[in-house]
Amino acid sequence: MHDSLKIVLTGAPGCGKGTQARILREKFGLCHLSTGEMLRAYAKENTPLGRALKVALDKGEFATDEMIVEMVSQRIEQKDCEKGFILDGFQRTLPQAEALEKILKEKKLNLDAAIEIQVPDEIIMERILGRYTCASCGEGYHDKNLQPKIYGVCDKCGGTEFVRRADDNRQTVKNRLINYRALTYPTIPYFEKLGLLHCVDGTGSIEATAKKIAEILDMIITAEKK
Ligand code: AMP
Repeated sequence: MHDSLKIVLTGAPGCGKGTQARILREKFGLCHLSTGEMLRAYAKENTPLGRALKVALDKGEFATDEMIVEMVSQRIEQKDCEKGFILDGFQRTLPQAEALEKILKEKKLNLDAAIEIQVPDEIIMERILGRYTCASCGEGYHDKNLQPKIYGVCDKCGGTEFVRRADDNRQTVKNRLINYRALTYPTIPYFEKLGLLHCVDGTGSIEATAKKIAEILDMIITAEKK
């Protein structure tokens, strides 16, 4: 097992970053850092910041770069990140991409790869509007593509309550896609220039996409050992 891979997973909302990050966490023993999950946890708190974040997230608006950069910078310091990490949802803007390079430099760390999962918008809308998760363990399901084996019972933990994200509605997804195209997509050439970009077709099954990503990471690990 490789002990210090550091990768960015990027791509439009609903392209499968979270799902793939959870698979990579198991396969490569990496820490999964999802800025979306961190923000949703803050947004549950009844504090001025929590309430402001909830309003922004429900509309599909981004949190500020300053807050996100500080949050990620502190999180990377924690012990569990020493084994390597997957950044899921960070960078979302060019200033965040630049800040990431600076943070890693200060901590004497190098990014190994930025993987873009490519999925067209029509597929994204269908994927996001149908997805839901087990309220107990977070296992992901989909109305059409991936239902629990027993109706209403989570395959993984037996839980019987399921939840949908508040921002997984048509209007908010439209906003999230607009923000992705305007602010996040322009960060892709940044990674390309650094020689770190790998593009993966994310329209196939979860397993097929996971296999392609694992092949890229295996290649990187082999090259680093030489
Ligand atoms: P995700 O779980 O990655 O789909 O993120 C959910 C929401 O959290 C996004 O639609 C944004 O509103 C917010 N968010 C997540 N990551 C970032 C980030 N790096 N910068 C700004 N906002 C973010």
